[in-house]
Amino acid sequence: MLIVQKYGGSSLASIEMIKNVANRVIKTRKQGNKVVVVVSAMGDTTDELIEKAYKITSSPNKRELDMLISTGEQISSALLSMAIHHEGYKAISLTGSQVGIITDTMHTKARIKGIDTKRIEKELSLDNIVIVCGFQGITVDEDITTLGRGGSDTTAIALASVLDAETCEIYTDVDGVYTGDPRIVKKAKKLDVISYDEMLEMASLGSVVLNLRAVEFAKKYGVVIHLRSSFNDKEGTIICEEVNIMEAPVVSEIASDENCTKITIVGVKDKPGIAGTIFSHLADKGINVDMIVQGASLDEKTNNISFTVTRDDMNESVNVLKGLLPKLSATEVIHDDNVAKVSMVGVGMRSHPGVAAKMFSLLGERNINIHMISTSEIKISCIVEKGKAVEAVRILHSGFGLE
Ligand code: ADP
Ligand code: ASP
Ligand code: MG
Repeated sequence: MLIVQKYGGSSLASIEMIKNVANRVIKTRKQGNKVVVVVSAMGDTTDELIEKAYKITSSPNKRELDMLISTGEQISSALLSMAIHHEGYKAISLTGSQVGIITDTMHTKARIKGIDTKRIEKELSLDNIVIVCGFQGITVDEDITTLGRGGSDTTAIALASVLDAETCEIYTDVDGVYTGDPRIVKKAKKLDVISYDEMLEMASLGSVVLNLRAVEFAKKYGVVIHLRSSFNDKEGTIICEEVNIMEAPVVSEIASDENCTKITIVGVKDKPGIAGTIFSHLADKGINVDMIVQGASLDEKTNNISFTVTRDDMNESVNVLKGLLPKLSATEVIHDDNVAKVSMVGVGMRSHPGVAAKMFSLLGERNINIHMISTSEIKISCIVEKGKAVEAVRILHSGFGLE
């Protein structure tokens, strides 16, 4: 069998941990499997590299940033390969470009366009355990790109898909996907199984446990994911199609995301095409807009348009919009980063009315003010004051009986 395993930074944070991972990989190899391992950078290496760049300039060139932050994975892959050699097994580390991961040119959040599997197949046929640097690829012009934070998950799932692997195991520092972030909700429970759709919503809500694009990829190509701990042998959480799940709960997860800022354009002329102008200019810069709310002002000739973006995209968004103010005949752009998004996800919401009402009431009873609301078939999100987010998650977690 061919198995793809991905180890996150939290599982590779020290030399001891790398040795532990080497032993786990070898164990899988000894069971007669071919193994492709995707690694993240050790511990907080990527954060530290980004910090260095920002000590030099507040707006580092994105191509150079990719050149810099892709090095983290090169370190961990080489060290893991050496640790495996030390135990007497064959392994080879390869960069994204060496394994032929071709991406578009959108530096720091590039998308995979194709993967040429020749090199991996050759190394596997030579009996090597293949260790791939996650998070990185290369453009057709041979510039190094990265796939966005948490992108090693995407590398792993993309490889599992093109190599037609039996399973894709994502190893991390928790036992699986929980009903809430175990760091915040002490009584959170581990889920044995969760659908792609729920996981997609979770990932888009800022749960870091699995990267959003990785889940999109898995859903599109039907890659079954087993998310589990690298510190024990317990079964983790299976992420698969909903049809394979017997009884879907109304609410399966509560999440919060502090990586968001609210931007408001004040006094926008109320005429057709304005929203198109605003959001296409942001899209051109590769900025992902999340919740959008448009409210009429008193005179009804102008609107205020508010939306949220990640903190990384805040400065660029504000700059883009300031440049557009005359065109929009709007008065000003304001931003508020003292906010967080609190959300609930569950496929059972489709068939149970009243979930939103109960959520708002629970928050209202605790005097938590809701700034923005957005919903989908299986999700409800509210923007609240940042200082209240943890409390909100706990109230909802117990209010919906997830403990
Ligand atoms: P890795 O280094 O393996 O990529 P991450 O830090 O990216 O690990 O993701 C694992 C972390 O995700 C966990 O330590 C946990 O605190 C956090 N997390 C957030 N929401 C959840 C959830 N619903 N279930 C499990 N873990 C969660
Ligand atoms: N090292 C990268 C990051 O920290 C990629 C990953 O961990 O998946 O975002
Ligand atoms: Mg991660």
